[in-house]
Amino acid sequence: MVENFNNTKVAFDSKTENELRKALFLFKLAGNKTLVKIGTTILDMASSFNLPIKGIIKSTIFNHFCGGENIKECKIVIEKLGKRNVKTILQYATEGKETQTQFDDAAKKSIETIEAVTNIDDVKFSVVKISGIASHDILEKVTHQQTLNETEQAQYQRAVNRLNTICEAAIKANIALLVDAEETWIQACIDDMVMDAMRKYNKEKTIVYNTYQLYRTDRLAYLKSSFETAKTEGFFLGCKPVRGAYMEMERERANKFGYISPIQKNKEATDNDYNAALAFCIENIDKIGLCAGTHNEESSIYLSELIDLHKLNKANPNIYISQLYGMSDHISFNLAAEGYNVAKFLPYGPVHEVIPYLIRRSEENKSILDDSNRELVMILKELDRRKAKG
Ligand SMILES: Cc1cc2nc3c(=O)[nH]c(=O)nc-3n(C[C@H](O)[C@H](O)[C@H](O)COP(=O)(O)OP(=O)(O)OC[C@H]3O[C@@H](n4cnc5c(N)ncnc54)[C@H](O)[C@@H]3O)c2cc1C
Repeated sequence: MVENFNNTKVAFDSKTENELRKALFLFKLAGNKTLVKIGTTILDMASSFNLPIKGIIKSTIFNHFCGGENIKECKIVIEKLGKRNVKTILQYATEGKETQTQFDDAAKKSIETIEAVTNIDDVKFSVVKISGIASHDILEKVTHQQTLNETEQAQYQRAVNRLNTICEAAIKANIALLVDAEETWIQACIDDMVMDAMRKYNKEKTIVYNTYQLYRTDRLAYLKSSFETAKTEGFFLGCKPVRGAYMEMERERANKFGYISPIQKNKEATDNDYNAALAFCIENIDKIGLCAGTHNEESSIYLSELIDLHKLNKANPNIYISQLYGMSDHISFNLAAEGYNVAKFLPYGPVHEVIPYLIRRSEENKSILDDSNRELVMILKELDRRKAKG
């Protein structure tokens, strides 16, 4: 098992001093809430008005958090990660699609992404966000068991078809597909779509993974019942446990409409359920594919303990842990150096398309940015180490 992630040499080996200084600047910025607000507004304006600051954005925030503007650029990053035993989760990152044509285009982009990395062993997963290929209104109606009219029913079927086509591309390319979890008011529909996809495509191995947000009070039980269904019906369960990104939004909505918040009462309760989900997956790892998405050091250490406890191979192909590209490198690279399966989540796309995505991610992942201090400390430690070494 790993004891800590303090080895900054391992964590930042692939970064030049210049890259480290840029990262230092970004995380200093991220730690200042006012500057984040100003930066986000500038990014927003740059993308809305096509301001000519693409070069600056690309060489700073974009290069730090994204793989590139196209697959060719990503392949350089994928190879660099691969050399350090870190695999890639590749996603074409765009936002704000609303029409059926845009959903078709998004599905097409997902398929092209998957096809472009066929047979590249360093890419293990791709990602699909259902609200990127289906209408939010329809997902919400189905979640609330409202009857769809004929047009809506047809649109829902088109969304299911898009997901199926993406899954089939994943099977052909031999990479797995992680389906993101979203807000509770559309999630039941997503869960049903993903369960059906698992039923269909996970008969021989885990291709499709659902995401379980353990900040929800009901998700540990749902994970267990999903596993029972998978066992009874004879398919592998794909599980990506995360803590969950929409806590504030969920609580605000519950407050506004006067229902009990679906979110745990405190962080400790979320942490407990998260770690219990890891334990459950490891106990049943012969029938579950696990890809744990977390930047939490304790959970990462706990996962390595569980692997030891159950006498499993560190590189068991059913067990992955994942962090965002550009975040928590001390966790990713130290685990990978110890022989665990690690995958970095690598978004890509044209700068103007990826900016809205990065803005959303920074808003959703405020808790990760709150960790900017931890990132700063690690980078400073590494810069000091290099200085001392001359
Ligand atoms: C590879 C990857 C994929 C991801 N995919 C998704 C996804 O599909 N859907 C999604 O929703 N999120 C996703 N996330 C984001 C994730 O849900 C978390 O928001 C983020 O990773 C921070 O949690 P943590 O485990 O890294 O660590 P920590 O920093 O330890 O945990 C922070 C999290 O704990 C929870 N929390 C904080 N305070 C409280 C409180 N007072 N009460 C209850 N809970 C609290 C919140 O979920 C918060 O985000 C993904 C993250 C990664 C790394």
